[in-house]
Amino acid sequence: MNSRELHILPESILVTKSFLPPLEEYIGEIERIWSSHWLTNNGVIHSDFEKKLKEYLGVSNISLFTNGHLALETALKNLELKGEVITTPFTFASTTHAILNSGLTPVFCDIEEVTFNMDASKIEALITENTSAIVPVHVFGNPCDVDKIGSIASKYNLKVIYDAAHAFGVETNGTPIGNFGDVSMFSMHATKVFHSIEGGILSTSNHNYKKQFDLFKNFGISGPESLETRGINAKMNEFQAAMGLVNLRYIEQEIEQRKELTQIYRELLKNIKGIRYLDDVSQVKHNYSYFPIIVDKEQYGKDRDFLHDELRKCNVFTRKYFYPLTTEIQAVQNLGLNDDLPVAKKIASSVLTLPIYTSLETDYIRKICHNISLIGEGC
Ligand SMILES: *Cc1c(COP(=O)(O)O)cnc(C)c1O
Repeated sequence: MNSRELHILPESILVTKSFLPPLEEYIGEIERIWSSHWLTNNGVIHSDFEKKLKEYLGVSNISLFTNGHLALETALKNLELKGEVITTPFTFASTTHAILNSGLTPVFCDIEEVTFNMDASKIEALITENTSAIVPVHVFGNPCDVDKIGSIASKYNLKVIYDAAHAFGVETNGTPIGNFGDVSMFSMHATKVFHSIEGGILSTSNHNYKKQFDLFKNFGISGPESLETRGINAKMNEFQAAMGLVNLRYIEQEIEQRKELTQIYRELLKNIKGIRYLDDVSQVKHNYSYFPIIVDKEQYGKDRDFLHDELRKCNVFTRKYFYPLTTEIQAVQNLGLNDDLPVAKKIASSVLTLPIYTSLETDYIRKICHNISLIGEGC
């Protein structure tokens, strides 16, 4: 593949393609629904899934939700928070919306150049008497500096709610990622590394929190004639649970295959000037859920937007995750908050997420990387 021409891919290559298990396996699982006529509200599949998932995630309590966003809002609304929460602007809009929808004010902390995660060394300067929590995101599944965040939280008596939407299956220093902070939220949306069509999880070591979350997600109903608290409807149904249960059989294989694809990308991109990617962190079990690159315009010769547009002409549909920053949300702009976020702005304007999913052919990865190399040379 030494050709000086761009390779047009024979089909549209999107940034991800949802995993689907063998159809018979899914049918085998949902047959139980036809026998029981029990479609939602804590059915047997839901119970099975919750049990297996808790084991897989290596945490002490989990609560299942219809999606990750409502799970996050449930956590934020049930931890008696008020005032300000310190968070990151380099995330999916959901994180910031959940904070705003819970009546809290997001205070944005800049991120690290290398991991794209909240820069823990900049948290303390943002703490005021109104701060009640820290809401960090393990962006692209890379663990935040959990030790530092944990010690700041105990020093100032703050709650920590991790948005672990990207971090399913991740471990750091042998500890599964859902064990840090007061609560962690995982997303099981169709586009995530592990999914239940749509779905969300809250993990917590606090059994009372779990009870509260389970009540809140079902209108606060604690029995046929008792309404214990206010709540919403955010329950996971049996079809979702069945998909999750089947997919759980494939998750280790999925992560292993993504690791191989990631290594191919890294090998092919490592000599292209001005292209940087995330490396493995020692003592971390990664899930390889995304493959973001940083385009250094000075060295690469072209900027991120140019590369994005040229790749699209070759049928390669990359995504600018995460651009714009969530500080661009109108409701946030109206708050007129601190906007001193030089690293986040720099990363958001130069990041590009390349396609990665297990059925992506390695030959396509070669062609994508070949194109990235040529586009930088100005061909
Ligand atoms: C996907 C995602 C969410 C929301 O999860 P859903 O399951 O789609 O509701 C929240 N935060 C981040 C960082 C995400 O990527």
